[in-house]
Amino acid sequence: MFSKILIANRGEIAVRIMRTAKRLGVATVAIYSDADAGAMHVAEADEAVRIGPAPVAQSYLQADTIIAAAKATGAEAIHPGYGFLSENPKFAEEIDQAGLVFIGPSAEAIRAMGLKDAAKAVMEKAQVPVVPGYHGERQEPEFLAEQADTIGYPVLIKARAGGGGKGMRKVDEPGQFADALQGAQREGKASFGDDHVLIEKYVNSPRHIEIQVLGDQHGDAVHLFERDCSLQRRHQKVIEEAPAPGMTDEMRAAMGDAAVKAAKAIGYSGAGTVEFIVDGSDGLRPDRFWFMEMNTRLQVEHPITEAITGLDLVALQLRVAVGEPLPFAQSDLAIYGHAFEARLYAEDVPKGFLPAIGTLDYLRFSSAARNDTGVREGDEITPHYDPLIAKVIVHGSSRHEALAKMRDALADTLIAGTVTNKAFLAALFRHEGFSKGEVDTGLIDRDLPGLLHEGSPPMLAQAMAAIAVLGLAGEVDRQDPWSSLSGWRLWGAAQHYVKLVQGKKAFDLRVSLRNARDFKVSSQTGTINVSLVERAPDRMIVDGHMQSLRFAVSEVFGRVALVSVFLNGETFVFDVPDGVTDAGYADPGDDVRAPMPGLVKQVRAKTGHDVSRGDALVVLEAMKMEHTLAAARDGTVAEIYVADGDQVSDGDLLVSLVPEKE
Ligand code: ADP
Repeated sequence: MFSKILIANRGEIAVRIMRTAKRLGVATVAIYSDADAGAMHVAEADEAVRIGPAPVAQSYLQADTIIAAAKATGAEAIHPGYGFLSENPKFAEEIDQAGLVFIGPSAEAIRAMGLKDAAKAVMEKAQVPVVPGYHGERQEPEFLAEQADTIGYPVLIKARAGGGGKGMRKVDEPGQFADALQGAQREGKASFGDDHVLIEKYVNSPRHIEIQVLGDQHGDAVHLFERDCSLQRRHQKVIEEAPAPGMTDEMRAAMGDAAVKAAKAIGYSGAGTVEFIVDGSDGLRPDRFWFMEMNTRLQVEHPITEAITGLDLVALQLRVAVGEPLPFAQSDLAIYGHAFEARLYAEDVPKGFLPAIGTLDYLRFSSAARNDTGVREGDEITPHYDPLIAKVIVHGSSRHEALAKMRDALADTLIAGTVTNKAFLAALFRHEGFSKGEVDTGLIDRDLPGLLHEGSPPMLAQAMAAIAVLGLAGEVDRQDPWSSLSGWRLWGAAQHYVKLVQGKKAFDLRVSLRNARDFKVSSQTGTINVSLVERAPDRMIVDGHMQSLRFAVSEVFGRVALVSVFLNGETFVFDVPDGVTDAGYADPGDDVRAPMPGLVKQVRAKTGHDVSRGDALVVLEAMKMEHTLAAARDGTVAEIYVADGDQVSDGDLLVSLVPEKE
């Protein structure tokens, strides 16, 4: 076994790799950018090396600097994790040339699978079924449009270098083709520096089912069964499970064989994933799955495979990398129970799943789940990297049991200081079709309104938020806000007014103080009496009944900006508008503002032109994804404040509208 390895990654995956390394007695070296100097993965490592400033191009993508760090610290091997340089064949080659070991497949294997078009050609040759479509060299828009006609609509345009759902556009009819092609090319160029695309038939009732494979350096390969990743949004996985609901032995054997064939065709060693698209319109049938691509690295969702097989995939990666043969044969492997993974992100779901940032003022995970995380309480989610907070993984003896466990685990996960997608995930785990195992990649989009539905926050949540904002719930201790009720502030007026905002809804609360612990709180939705219980900071008596809840307040620039109330497994997050900018919330219809920091890719609006509700005004790129900002109502474009290529901050005014000329 290695005695020391360097982990060329950050966040949860770096921490997860270190956990196994430690168990195997392997010392670890972390790398970090300036933004991550205090990060969890740095604290967990035996040693850490700074590699550059925050932007990934100057830090986590600096292959030479990373290899030099490995040499300087005496690491014998480099684990790339996922993302960043993990699928970069040059990186693997250079590591090799430096006399170190790349923990992953050979550069040739990565290269063979690196581009979706070339990979499909290799798989066709190996007699693995591939999705029908065009994956040749020609790229003239007219030619590609003809190909789309031949394939038959709907089609999917994919950037050949794509990943993470980027550079992909579904096209339903010929009229949309040209625009979609441009979008896919633009995103491909921006994210991967390659605007080459391929066209695929869009498969009906699509399900994404992938097979985990593991190969060694002696030509052997096995599969570790499937994962169903059909619950997606914008082609990005949201929830994964293993095994796939409705999977038959016959289909599993066929898919497993195809995946092992794929791995062997390229002499694959290490852990990899062969992704298939499955037509699920008529159950799972062995003649209805097609190769999409192979990920030549550890996958984000690998923990669910670990849960159902009892194996440690990172340990296996390390063993294979030192040259050991696979420690088992296909017939030794079996599936135990059922597992789910939910990806918990800092993102504003009602605002269109916008990545969010913030300081995690409070963070508690459920003990019923495996929580793979790279952040601790007090850490910051910055705009520089993926806003993943944690992967919540549960395992049960049956799908039903695992579902129940996930519902409980999410209810027990408490996060304050940023908005998260927890309520959305919880709604998915309550979704009737999903609960029955009826999954396809369109489920989330189709049922989005129901999944986003948030009732009005209960009066108690509003009341507690208001009491907390006023500082009347005891001293606000950032570490543990409810550990102490000491430090009562001096009483000012007996009545306070607080405005709280949730998305487009505003709550105007009046808090009347009876004495130090008894409050009467009213808003447009009702009135309640709240009495705090002495020395029990998470308890209160509400209209005569004992209730328990928790809250946390988050400050930005010394001002309370956010309150999170945890009540009955739900988290209610309220913005506390700054008095000065309060007016902005009144009518969002006229002003189109940047919902997050980003780059203006394209201004679609034209001054003086009439627009209808929903018309695209500005295309913004943020976190390497394009977001189209649309008109909130009919009107005329009065003023445009930005141009293509401008960098904008959260809240910047981009375009203003006036009512349409009569
Ligand atoms: P990426 O590398 O960006 O993740 P993939 O090729 O793996 O892209 O595809 C991502 C997702 O897009 C799939 O999981 C699936 O939901 C959807 N998808 C891909 N190809 C097809 C297809 N031909 N028909 C229907 N859906 C598809």
